[in-house]
Amino acid sequence: MEFVRAKSAGFCMGVSLALHKLDNIIAEENISGDIYILGSIIHNPQVVAEYAEKGVISVDSPEEIPPGSIVVIRAHGITKQVQYSLSQRGILVIDATCPKVKDACLSIEENTQKGRVLLLFGEEAHPEVKCLLSYAAGKTVVFDTLEECQTCDLDPALKYCLAAQTTQDKHVFDAISRELSKRKGLDLIVLDTICNATRMRQGEATKIADKTDFVIVAGGYNSSNTRRLAQVIETSGTAALHVETADELPLDDLRKFQKIGLTAGASTPKKIVDKIQKVLESL
Ligand code: SF4
Repeated sequence: MEFVRAKSAGFCMGVSLALHKLDNIIAEENISGDIYILGSIIHNPQVVAEYAEKGVISVDSPEEIPPGSIVVIRAHGITKQVQYSLSQRGILVIDATCPKVKDACLSIEENTQKGRVLLLFGEEAHPEVKCLLSYAAGKTVVFDTLEECQTCDLDPALKYCLAAQTTQDKHVFDAISRELSKRKGLDLIVLDTICNATRMRQGEATKIADKTDFVIVAGGYNSSNTRRLAQVIETSGTAALHVETADELPLDDLRKFQKIGLTAGASTPKKIVDKIQKVLESL
């Protein structure tokens, strides 16, 4: 059996930066107070569990963080309002939001403050989407598919800006952009918010899918960019399997393939990808 591993598999710049900030705070001796994370610092349960062992407390609601503590904001960001209220309550806020997400937030803020309605291609329940929406100054419309966008009733008397969650599929976003541009008299500008790391990872995954029979995609089940990678591969016509760790590999089923590809989401640690590679190579 032949095996191909994506060069882009593993942590992206935003995830590395967020974890680096968290590591620095843990190592800081001249700082007092418990260290909290609001939601998962990154979408990988194995990484979150390792930080829990180091004493980092993960909570789901900002009210669970007491004054005098430290909170590290996750790579996907939190809403502008929650960030403000945490600082107001005497909590030290370390902002580890990915710079690409921050850029998208500021671009949305700037354009919506000029009176444009935000059209956002993303998953409404995703933390990053909630963060992006909180920077919009006025009305917002969220859709998750091209079909949903096609059914949106838009008023030609208003001005719009189109943006995407940073990890969305670039091809679908381009199709949405073309679909909206066809609407007569619609004043629309398109904001370039899809992250390059995501584009490259998806592009490489498609190339690997073209030259293999099956692709393993490693990453947290709660990681939207990992799920999307599996979708991109399957859309290109190659079957894919999303796993979190090497223990989940269906070894007997995998033996029947001639050539297997391996890629991973932006929040998947290298050691998990290495372990999967080792198991695949042993087949
Ligand atoms: S995938 Fe892109 S936007 Fe998301 S955390 Fe990584 S670098 Fe930032």
